[in-house]
Amino acid sequence: MTNIHNTSAGSLFMVVAPSGAGKSTLVNALLAQEPSIKLSISFTTRAPRPSEQNGREYHFTTEKDFLARRAAGEFLESAEVHGNYYGTSRILIAEEMKAGTDVLLEIDWQGAHQVKKQFPHAVGIFILPPSITALEERLKKRGQDEENVITRRILAAGGEIAHAPEFEYVIINQEFATALAELSSIVRATRCRFGQQAVRNASLFAQLGIHANVD
Ligand code: 5GP
Repeated sequence: MTNIHNTSAGSLFMVVAPSGAGKSTLVNALLAQEPSIKLSISFTTRAPRPSEQNGREYHFTTEKDFLARRAAGEFLESAEVHGNYYGTSRILIAEEMKAGTDVLLEIDWQGAHQVKKQFPHAVGIFILPPSITALEERLKKRGQDEENVITRRILAAGGEIAHAPEFEYVIINQEFATALAELSSIVRATRCRFGQQAVRNASLFAQLGIHANVD
């Protein structure tokens, strides 16, 4: 049990999916609809894809720099995924959460596991492809990765998918509009959680004599 006064007004969303499930497209569409949600820009040692810009999709960095940051405790979570390091900045998340902003993390299952330990209220959303064939087709169509990278990601998809049962919500990305509406519904429902509402509307709750403790 935590007291409502310890609960942040902002929510923390973790969106997880195997490569090729259409996660980034869905997340970008959600952010266009809900500009108040802040997307955390991760650090990675992966090389930028042709369409990517440093500081926009990721903070691209060297392995040496990444490991130094990790040793200094700069990451809320970090993991090795498909042979590269990825990590979420601790400072950014702490600042945004304190300010009551909703934050969204696009991370893998290992990172989600680490975040959940520190933020038990974090909302885990797993995006599934409608079939394994659809996933392979999306990866190949993206055309931004080398053949061997694509093969590696297809092989890793099963490992990522095996962790779907650890998440509160699952979205099957068959029809884009439906998947987006579902993602948006999860965000809206989360904002209506008692704890979030109590912090956001503290004076109303006080006026109405609501002084409950919440989980
Ligand atoms: P990609 O290289 O395709 O951008 O991402 C590969 C995988 O790394 C995806 O599953 C993505 O969600 C995950 N990833 C991206 N950023 C982070 C991060 O900061 N932490 C963790 N644990 N995984 C991340």
